[in-house]
Amino acid sequence: MKKATLSEIVIKKGEQFTSEYDLILKKIKEFKRIVIFRHIMPDFDALGSQLGLATWIKDNFPDKDVRVVGDNHVVFTPRLFPVMDSVKDDYFNDDFLAIIVDVSNASRVADPRFKKAKYIIKIDHHPDIERFEDVKAVDTTMAAASELIVNMLLNFKGKYILSKDASSYFYIGIAGDSGRFLYSNTSPHTFNICEYLLNSGININEIYQKMYVKKLEDLKVTAYILNNFNVSPHGVAYYVLSGDIQKELNITTERGKENVNLFSNIEGIGAWCSITEDLKDHCWRISIRSKEKAINGVATMFEGGGHAQASGAKINSLDDLPRFIGELDKLFM
Ligand code: AMP
Repeated sequence: MKKATLSEIVIKKGEQFTSEYDLILKKIKEFKRIVIFRHIMPDFDALGSQLGLATWIKDNFPDKDVRVVGDNHVVFTPRLFPVMDSVKDDYFNDDFLAIIVDVSNASRVADPRFKKAKYIIKIDHHPDIERFEDVKAVDTTMAAASELIVNMLLNFKGKYILSKDASSYFYIGIAGDSGRFLYSNTSPHTFNICEYLLNSGININEIYQKMYVKKLEDLKVTAYILNNFNVSPHGVAYYVLSGDIQKELNITTERGKENVNLFSNIEGIGAWCSITEDLKDHCWRISIRSKEKAINGVATMFEGGGHAQASGAKINSLDDLPRFIGELDKLFM
């Protein structure tokens, strides 16, 4: 990594965390065992930031024992990401460093055994709602946790490599959480960071193929949604996928939100959501997206949270749906 070419934007963004970055690097050097955690039901950025950081540590500190834990993704594993490590409980009895990325609340960390860590680092871009760490770097202006982590790696004092493999993971995280640089969280810093990633030799055509390739039968899901979506009086579009419909369309609950952005560029639609029945957890999982208005306040009212333009929530029964849509609708009155 050529420190001399670090852009002013990248340096300036990193300055707010100078002491945190120093401490994080010190802890990475100090611990032999390092376990990297992220949120449940992972998306591109959760897995990209987790695996990018794991790869970077292994590339630069080959003697470290680095593990990645949590649930695998129903579609992206193993197409895009390797299977997570299966780690037995006794592994966590010895001293280890936990690095938790892309999640702000303890209950959403995909493996609760982070609580046994000797030292906990949190690196995130969600609003910081709960403290469970010893040191944190949290910046909500970053499009992705991957973007913040690359900023950190570039600002580390010392000479380190940023390999093509690590860069690919981070790029997937940034492209995923910025909607391929479409969402308003995309900034000059996002592009600056991507310049470094592209310079490591990654092939973005290959990456996009793997990220977004679909099967012909997936079009049936899209067709169902286009035939059955609703729009509230003030422009909240939403679709509902019951357990029966998921069975008919041959998709799992995790895939219910895949089509949510069908409504992202429709005139008069300010927010849009997918509502997917989770038969295992006896609830309906909601993914909410919005053009401009912050929707994370409404998400918090319905057992959720997230970013201003992309949040998650849940309701326990469809009886609560009118109230939920009503709260979103109020934002556009
Ligand atoms: P999703 O709709 O599941 O893709 O989530 C959109 C964003 O909201 C992601 O950044 C999630 O990490 C975040 N999110 C989803 N559910 C919750 C929750 N219950 N609490 C906090 N953040 C959430």
